[in-house]
This record gives sequence, structure tokens and C-alpha cells, in this order.
Amino acid sequence: MIESLAVPSRPLESAPAVRAAWPKALIVMAHPDDEYALAATAYRISRELGGVVDHVVITNGAGGYRYAALAEAIYGVSIAREADGRANLPAIRRQETLNAGRVLGIRRHHFLEQTDSGFEDDCAGASWHAWDCALVRHRLAGLLGGDDYDFVFTLLPSPGCHGHHRATARLVLEAVADLPEECRPVVLGAEAGRLADAPCAFGGLPEDALTRTAASTPAIVFDRNAPFGNQPALNYQIVANWVIGEHKSQGLFQTDCGKHDAERFWAFAVTPHALERCRELARRLLPTGRVGDFFAGL
Ligand SMILES: [Zn+2]
Repeated sequence: MIESLAVPSRPLESAPAVRAAWPKALIVMAHPDDEYALAATAYRISRELGGVVDHVVITNGAGGYRYAALAEAIYGVSIAREADGRANLPAIRRQETLNAGRVLGIRRHHFLEQTDSGFEDDCAGASWHAWDCALVRHRLAGLLGGDDYDFVFTLLPSPGCHGHHRATARLVLEAVADLPEECRPVVLGAEAGRLADAPCAFGGLPEDALTRTAASTPAIVFDRNAPFGNQPALNYQIVANWVIGEHKSQGLFQTDCGKHDAERFWAFAVTPHALERCRELARRLLPTGRVGDFFAGL
């Protein structure tokens, strides 16, 4: 029996008062820690704009044992050997996700507890065939039908990315395509990168029309170097680093601290007027007011 939980997070005591709940966003990811790609954006929506962010994690993260050795001393159990990791990591990674969610101001977590098969040599070839896709589709349909989300975030399903990330994006796009056009949230494919590097061009996977984007360039770019409030010494990189620090079982992930200063989002064409709706989100998101810079190329 696959267990599914919704866990409300406790707000930070210093959180600003909630204003109108816009935007309402749903993050749908394959693995615990994938939310890193939009850490600053999620924080800004929930903690500063008065919006709502919920989070679905499809797998139980049991495949994340390869670089878990450093955290064995923290958790007091064996997690770096495959058999031990598969037994002990799901509970640990769920708690790590809840901890990261408290940083990000996540309203509800939904853990779908699907098998995380991991991969041999190439993450792009990771299989999702052990997932109960009917259950995932049912849960996504229930969430999308039960709440009027404005945006759904998943990872960009670029050809070389982890197979689980591509499968997740496909399931999200299927669920959104099943809604009447006027009810569809905008689906955004996220990727963390460096502002110094040009973003990839992603128009969709060639064999899959559902993954077609409204533009091959990012519709929104959030600069994690943006100053935090009126304190120029602080910026949104700190939030992303907090999220990394909560996922202690993911040892190699810790070396990403400070590495990515851009959160880029491609808008999928499944939703009418996706780019216009992204423009409105960008106006609210970007604390520097440099909206024009971020729409170059559209
Ligand atoms: Zn992942």
C-alpha cells in the first residue's frame, strides 16, 4: 500500500503577515532536494509576496545513498550502503524535505512514496517503470482540481537530464492538459544555473509535442544575487544554501553551495497565454525591478 501524506509546515515566527494569496503555486518533483532549483523563487512567493506554495515529492528518495556517508554520523544509522540506504533513507529524506520546506514556507507537502530505483551509470537512463503512474496521475488530478493553482513548477525535462525528472514533467503536463484550457495553471520547467552561462534553448522534446514550450528561451530568470530587502550584504543565495544544508544525506549536493546564481524557468505551451502570465509573475517576483532585462529574447 502506497502511503500518501500531506504535512503542513509551521511558519517562521519572523514571517511577514499574509496578504492576498497570489500566486498559488504547486511544486512537483521526482526527488527530495529537487526543489533547490527554485528555492529563491519559492521563498519569495511564500515568505514575501503572500502567496502559497505546496510541494509534491513523487519518489521516496531511497536511491540517494551514493554520497550519504558523511551524514551517517549525523543520523546515527547506516545509509551509504545500498541495502541500508534503501531501508533508512526514505524517512530521513522526508524529514530533510520537511526541514527545507520550513525554510521555503511550503504550506503542504505530499509524499507519494514511489520507488526511487536510482540508476547505474547514466542518470538520463533512470527508469520510472516501478512507479504507480496511475496513482501519481490521480493525485495530481486531485490537487489540480481541488486548488486553483496559478503556476506548477517542475524541472526542465531536457534530453540529458535524469529520467525521473523527464517522467515527472510528462506526468505534470498530462495532468494539466486534462484540465479545461481556462482552468490550466502555467507549467514552468525550472533549472538552476549560472548567470554567466547562456541558458540552453529548449523548445520541447522532439518526439513529444506535450513538452513544447511557449518560447525556447526562459520566460523568467530569478537572480539569486538580488539583495534581500534593504540589506545589500544579504541575498537569495543564502536561501538556496539553507535548502542545500537541510539535505544532509546528499553529500555531493553540499558542494553546490554558492554555485548557481540563476533560477531559470521555461513556460510550456500547454497553457494559453503562458508568457503573459509569466510576465505578471516576474513583475512580482523580481525584487530589483529589472523586469525588462529578464524578458530579453521573448
Ligand atoms: Zn532529482
